[in-house]
Amino acid sequence: MKESENTSTNFIKQIIDSDIESGKHETTYTRFPPEPNGFLHIGHAKAICLNFGIKASYNGKCNLRFDDTNPVKEEDTYVESIKKDVAWLGFEWNNLCYASDYFDQLYQWAEMLIQKGKAYVDEQSGEDISKQRTTPQEPGIESPYRNRPQEESLRLFREMKEGKHKDGSMVLRAKIDMTSPNMHLRDPIMYRILKKSHHRTGNKWKIYPNYDFAHGQSDYIEGITHSLCTLEFEVHRPLYDWFLDQIADPGKTRPRQIEFARLNLTYTIMSKRKLLELVEGKYVNGWDDPRIPTISGLRRRGYTPASIRLFSDRVGIAKRENTIDVGLLEWAVREDLNKISQRRLAVMDPLKVVITNYPENKSEELEAINNPEDLSAGKRTMPFSRELYIEQKDFMMDPPRKFYRLGPGREVRLRYGYFITCNDVIQDENGNVKELHCTYDPETKGGKSPDGRKVKGTIHWVSKPHAVPVEIRLYDRLFSVENPSDVPEGGDFKDNINPDSLVVNTALAEPSVKKIPPETHIQFERNGYFYVDPDTTDDNMVINETVPLRDSWSKKSKKK
Ligand code: ATP
Ligand code: MG
Repeated sequence: MKESENTSTNFIKQIIDSDIESGKHETTYTRFPPEPNGFLHIGHAKAICLNFGIKASYNGKCNLRFDDTNPVKEEDTYVESIKKDVAWLGFEWNNLCYASDYFDQLYQWAEMLIQKGKAYVDEQSGEDISKQRTTPQEPGIESPYRNRPQEESLRLFREMKEGKHKDGSMVLRAKIDMTSPNMHLRDPIMYRILKKSHHRTGNKWKIYPNYDFAHGQSDYIEGITHSLCTLEFEVHRPLYDWFLDQIADPGKTRPRQIEFARLNLTYTIMSKRKLLELVEGKYVNGWDDPRIPTISGLRRRGYTPASIRLFSDRVGIAKRENTIDVGLLEWAVREDLNKISQRRLAVMDPLKVVITNYPENKSEELEAINNPEDLSAGKRTMPFSRELYIEQKDFMMDPPRKFYRLGPGREVRLRYGYFITCNDVIQDENGNVKELHCTYDPETKGGKSPDGRKVKGTIHWVSKPHAVPVEIRLYDRLFSVENPSDVPEGGDFKDNINPDSLVVNTALAEPSVKKIPPETHIQFERNGYFYVDPDTTDDNMVINETVPLRDSWSKKSKKK
């Protein structure tokens, strides 16, 4: 496993350290700026951990800011889910902000730019505007409206605001440089007409600012020192700086944009658009389906905030695009769950065992440790009786030498129970094993050998009359290929969906499992980590598989 990122070695922290050393800033002020147009995913979690992690390291501040400049795709439900997710990850924002709170200020700055001759109203179609930008190798073509009188642009811009013009009939553009090799500087659009109701400002605005005219200005208004974003914004940086040059007061804190590589994971789709497609097309059961990498999906799967923070720390901060093995995320969750999960026994695929020398109407309570990693979790008891269940796969009719579990004539230890020896195998007419007849050694209570005799295997079990049925949802990867977006011409990422990503089974668990409340993590010994689903009712306990105990994925895929 990769060494933990030393807190002072990532390149962003080096920049911050030198800004503090030079006296440019006393401390840091960062922000996490999601667009409320979908649920957050593990990639966002990385950006959250980065921004709020800097706040913690430098005793700084961090805002949660909704970048809500596009009323078409944004909704309040997303706002609420995002707030919940950031808080769940364990972070506290200093201010809860909305880019829409700055619409008045942005509008004033836009008028100021028009008055300074640095912005104009263009009445061409979007298509013409983009055609005139041409290619980076050749100069663009200036709009015939580029040099119109400032008063005319100002009048039209005010009319746009008042709703006097149709959607798409005109836009406000910055007047920068139509010959720049950076396409973002070829007179970018600042405002467009959109007669859409906004989730916060209602019908007040008929025009909305574009991302580039809102983001840096919002950073500036909030006093952000380091504005961290993903690499695709690197080419926007000259524009970010150009707008700040126009509006920033030299006496005030000026934010600096720094880019880092977005997180990509094997076997995982992270784009909000594609996640939306999976949800709307019912390929998965909603935004919190445990198979998708949304924070709400991971939570429901049984991931913990600590495991996501650990993962994010191990991934580190890169300057170049890369793809992280999803196994690292699974490793991180095991690390945390190993410490916090109580252990229980449950049989996924039952095989009946009769202990022929155990009295018929007797049962006894055996003591079991709840968590060997945390003895403060205490002990519980498990009923033992004449009839038990073990896993089918813990018995073999003709076992190889290295198979230390049960076979005809073999002895095995029952976890927290006794040693048992298999004497008889009852088969049906097709040779399928129906039940085992075993004897137990009463001297081996608690699994201890009385005479030093060696029993290599320990298997889990439940008492048949006491066992409780629970619904188990077993998850495999949602995509069967490492890079689901890599599809041939005419293909679709959904073609790579694994048809067996969800298997629902009934398992038989020791009775104390019934007392575990929803949203609790458990380890079913030898089976994996599980999480009691919020769908659980008194009649039906639903339990999600979080992750197998060890990396068994490679085995799983070979089986197919
Ligand atoms: P997507 O590309 O998944 O639709 P987005 O970038 O459009 O996501 P935003 O809501 O704009 O989503 O993102 C909020 C913040 O999260 C931005 O600063 C963005 O750079 C960051 N972010 C988004 N995806 C990732 C990722 N995969 N890894 C790291 N940071 C990310
Ligand atoms: Mg975005």
